Amino acid sequence: MSEFCQPQLTTLLEAERIQARIRELGASIARDYAGRSPLLVVVLKGAVPFSADLIRAIDLPVTLDFIAVSSYGASTKSSGEVRLLKDLDASLKGKDVIIVEDIVDTGLTLSYLLDMFRRRDAASVRVAALLDKPERRQREVEVAYAGFTIPNEFVVGFGLDYAERYRNLPYVAILNPAL
Ligand code: IMP
Repeated sequence: MSEFCQPQLTTLLEAERIQARIRELGASIARDYAGRSPLLVVVLKGAVPFSADLIRAIDLPVTLDFIAVSSYGASTKSSGEVRLLKDLDASLKGKDVIIVEDIVDTGLTLSYLLDMFRRRDAASVRVAALLDKPERRQREVEVAYAGFTIPNEFVVGFGLDYAERYRNLPYVAILNPAL
């Protein structure tokens, strides 16, 4: 790729700010679920860095499972269609589930997962999301543990990708596509 078509990154959330907010979210979850053992369902792949830091900030005996659904692919626009790519390993029956997501954008992914998990007889289902982009919402979803509300921009880093790139950035940045 020549230097003329490199997309530009503009930092939106610095690494230290993200870490501090995740510690707060972990403390809230530990308080709310005291005496219980919540199951954190991590939505692959974007929520992996967030979940890795979040579980270490929750002082409770949590358990983990993973699910994969279709996402944007190599586009910055949602196709509006959600597909299950990898299901959970274990049953949700009677479990206190916390879905861990990187970002709530249209809300289509989360409303799909919330419907599915409620049908599987979870005792409770809540959502923890690092980022919330409310301007693009098409489905109302309640996010019990939200890290940051962000403007309607395409962002990358801290798990979020563009064509599978940038997931490993320790900060969140706005991607300005090359002209
Ligand atoms: P939804 O539109 O709320 O269903 O979001 C679906 C998924 O799209 C998220 O879990 C992200 O993986 C991806 N996504 C939404 N907005 C962005 C963004 O700004 N950057 C990168 N991925 C995004």
